[in-house]
Amino acid sequence: MKYLDDLAADIEGWKRDGRYRTIKVWESGSGTWMYLNGRRILQMSSNNYLGLTDHPALKKAAIEAIEKYGVGSGSVRTITGTLDIHEQLELELAAFKGTEAALVFQSGFTTNQGALSAILGADDAVISDELNHASIIDGIRLTKAARKIYAHKDMNQLEVVLKNTQKHRKRIIVTDGVFSMDGDIAPLPDIVQLAEAYDAIVYVDDAHASGVLGKNGKGSTDHFGLHGRVHVQIGTLSKAIGAVGGYVAGAQLLKEHLIHSARPFLFSTSQPPAVAATCLAAIRVLRDSSDLVARLWHNADTFRSSLQRLGFDTGASETPIIPIIVGDPIRTTHFSDRLLEEGLFAQSILYPTVAMDKGRVRLIVTAQHTEEDLAFALDSLEKVGREFGLIYIS
Ligand SMILES: *Cc1c(COP(=O)(O)O)cnc(C)c1O
Repeated sequence: MKYLDDLAADIEGWKRDGRYRTIKVWESGSGTWMYLNGRRILQMSSNNYLGLTDHPALKKAAIEAIEKYGVGSGSVRTITGTLDIHEQLELELAAFKGTEAALVFQSGFTTNQGALSAILGADDAVISDELNHASIIDGIRLTKAARKIYAHKDMNQLEVVLKNTQKHRKRIIVTDGVFSMDGDIAPLPDIVQLAEAYDAIVYVDDAHASGVLGKNGKGSTDHFGLHGRVHVQIGTLSKAIGAVGGYVAGAQLLKEHLIHSARPFLFSTSQPPAVAATCLAAIRVLRDSSDLVARLWHNADTFRSSLQRLGFDTGASETPIIPIIVGDPIRTTHFSDRLLEEGLFAQSILYPTVAMDKGRVRLIVTAQHTEEDLAFALDSLEKVGREFGLIYIS
């Protein structure tokens, strides 16, 4: 059939470019050591920053919620799908973030789709960093607002765009808090200052900053001491928080509006009870202790320094996301495959996600990695790095 021929042609093209991949099927839960085809592998590519996916308090909360409420919520939030644990989660999230209100969605992806398309009208302009996440790009595509892209973290360009969009009803600057491919942090203080000078709204997506940046993992706004000056904070419950979901934290009026306007909130079933209960337990774990976040940063900083000492190019990394730049897609895939043979899983990130010659493996250090784990990873990387001529130390 014709449509299948078209699909096959796409697939052939991806194979030619070295971009074709098969999905790996893991035989154990998310953790540091996981089973793949019966082999024990050290993985350094999950977003399970704090190791919360198998935290005892979270598992207990999930099991108890299933016993009390069953496995599904039965409806969208606006009908019978808002349970008391959904509301409690939002209250405690808002308190944790230091905002008036929070509204939970089914995922970080749908949060951006719902929030951006609700806030942005045809008379508005949205101003977006070129490296923002796909869910932001798609959320913007759903709107009729004028779209302006600025070069990654380029504040001069941002200011020019702000000057040139003054005729619009409102302007919204959208940025990732931590950028997922390079592990660098958005210059939020500069963005806030420009936004205040030009009367624009600041919207920050803290998917990779939730549970990572700021006191107890409160996010990038807290990290930079910008409470009250960032209007819309997006967070995910899928990464460091250990379950799945997303949220908007901000003004009570924003929440009230989104309850009536955000389409994934209105037309897609709410989080299952076990998920809401898990997220609530996770927020309490974060609120009550900063130990895991401290452990995460200790691991990330020592591991990044060790890689740099070996001579690896870790790009712009300043967070637990640590890329090793390898090169073109075929070479990068080969590098990742060799590491896997050594027992280390490091996901390759290829063109068009990154530039053709900036293919990389992306390592994500977690609080759960032990010193022995990190030493094992370094040994594997040193061995394979030398094979590929990425480092030259004898
Ligand atoms: C991962 C990610 C998302 C999507 O979050 P999910 O909860 O996995 O849907 C949104 N924004 C950014 C910046 C992300 O990195």
